[in-house]
Amino acid sequence: MGGPFAPDFIEAVRASGDIVQVISDYVPLKRAGRRLKGLCPFHQEKTPSFSVDPESQLFYCFGCQTGGDIFKFVQLYDKLNFGEAVEALATRFGVPLPAVRQKGGDDRERVLEINGLAQSFFKKLLAADAGRGCRDYLAERGLDETTIERLGLGYAADDWEALRGHLVAKRARPADIVKAGLAMPRKSGSGEYDRFRDRLIFPIRDIQGRVVAFGGRALAADAQPKYINSPETPAYTKGNHLYGLDLAKEAIRREGFAIVVEGYMDLAALLQAGFDNVVASLGTAFTPAQARLLARYTTRVRVSYDGDAAGAQATARSLDMLLEQGFEVHVVELPGGTDPDDTIRDQGAAEYGRLVREAPEYLEFLVRRQIAEHGMADTRAKVAAVNAVLPHVAKLTNAIERMSWATRLADTLQIEDELVLQELKTALKTARSEVRQRPATSAEKLRDAEVRLVHLLMRSEDGRRRLVESIDETDLAATHIAPIVAVILDLTRRKERVDASSVLEQLSDKDAQLLTRILFRDEPQEGPTIEDCLATFQRDRIIREERQAIRELGRESKTDDASSDSEELDRRLMHVQQLARQRDALL
Ligand SMILES: [Zn+2]
Repeated sequence: MGGPFAPDFIEAVRASGDIVQVISDYVPLKRAGRRLKGLCPFHQEKTPSFSVDPESQLFYCFGCQTGGDIFKFVQLYDKLNFGEAVEALATRFGVPLPAVRQKGGDDRERVLEINGLAQSFFKKLLAADAGRGCRDYLAERGLDETTIERLGLGYAADDWEALRGHLVAKRARPADIVKAGLAMPRKSGSGEYDRFRDRLIFPIRDIQGRVVAFGGRALAADAQPKYINSPETPAYTKGNHLYGLDLAKEAIRREGFAIVVEGYMDLAALLQAGFDNVVASLGTAFTPAQARLLARYTTRVRVSYDGDAAGAQATARSLDMLLEQGFEVHVVELPGGTDPDDTIRDQGAAEYGRLVREAPEYLEFLVRRQIAEHGMADTRAKVAAVNAVLPHVAKLTNAIERMSWATRLADTLQIEDELVLQELKTALKTARSEVRQRPATSAEKLRDAEVRLVHLLMRSEDGRRRLVESIDETDLAATHIAPIVAVILDLTRRKERVDASSVLEQLSDKDAQLLTRILFRDEPQEGPTIEDCLATFQRDRIIREERQAIRELGRESKTDDASSDSEELDRRLMHVQQLARQRDALL
């Protein structure tokens, strides 16, 4: 965590706003004792199980186990990353943003500046004599001046140092050119050489239209690889951008959905054909960061990948991820093995438009594929089809939608068999419990001593000091709370502030949720002490070790061949007796 902001700044933002005030803007809250309650915005419910605690500044839903601090809430509700949530809240509370971000602020600006210079250079070359071959290629692909201009296409010369020389003449430092990913150090000797040579250049722009990276398509038929991209730089993280979104965002809002294609040329062809609401994922694996970015404009996508790619494993995973993020996903079915570019050229933009409009929902598409592959001649084929599709249905976050798929699947597959239908419904219900209710099960398994210990440690500085002195961390190794206690111990030893937010910040998402859940359990003032809890864990550990030792002893004594060592047996027996004595001493 932490992102681009310094910890002090994050704390300043946290301190200047109240979680109740922020959440009230999204969710009507009513006072209930020392907490406030409301309907959970993260799952569908009729009775409020969503709770906000003004004292610890945390929220938690007893229904779906979602919880965390103010940043987490804004992240989840507005689908932002941590840094964006901090920025949004800072703006809201009027905390001035730091001028230079902590990490790579200057580097990022320099890279963006160099990218801008490179971009103008590539464009100029495309219009010059050197760019003739590249212009021929674009004409052959049917791209006109307007499309070329909108995308800012350019040409990288067939030369080892053309760009580097140009940038150095513009006073860019060679080290910064390397940092921008535009040149690479020579393996022998000194100096650097251009990364992009004799390639058609696609600038990759962020939403504000700044060039963050480049993609280059080889022009020579035998050049390998066909496409290269900028490496990660201070201005560019792979999988964080959607190609073309800067141009498409208004059209996406207007049309109410986005067409997602795989690559640069598909996107260019669609723009040329008059489809403005198109973005490219640059690969078939759509990332969660890309989904969050797109969700700012729409949660409805029509995925238009190559005929074959749409059914591939990697695609399925990213489409499942979109379902999980609450997207409505349709799959554009292209005639066998073709890509969007081919379809438009062979059959025209109108026909492609029809395929987009009539694109089936992703799950419908999967069912059809199953039928095409295995037929639906008998019940067994139908059950196989159901089983192939169910894992994807389970990704739907909306329970009503999920159940409605039971009916649709049954219809499509013409399942009249009451038993199969029943199976299907049960499976969909179980799918839900697997997806959503797992945290609840582990919550039940939480021991009272685990909840108690965490409460006591969060409450009392004196308790934390006693813990540091007396704890044997191996006693806690098998508990759910081990990572939480480790963070508390660490902060205490470093004499740093220990409260819900400072501990949450150090934990993984899973453990942060566990801590929130524990803190929302009401724990009485009176009860077992820290020492009592530690003794419970110690006893647990000894009992586990004892059982293990007895099992091993049993195995050892069964293999009573001549080789079994009686001294070894004695040693093990002694060990078991010793553990039993330790256990008794603790009772
Ligand atoms: Zn909930």
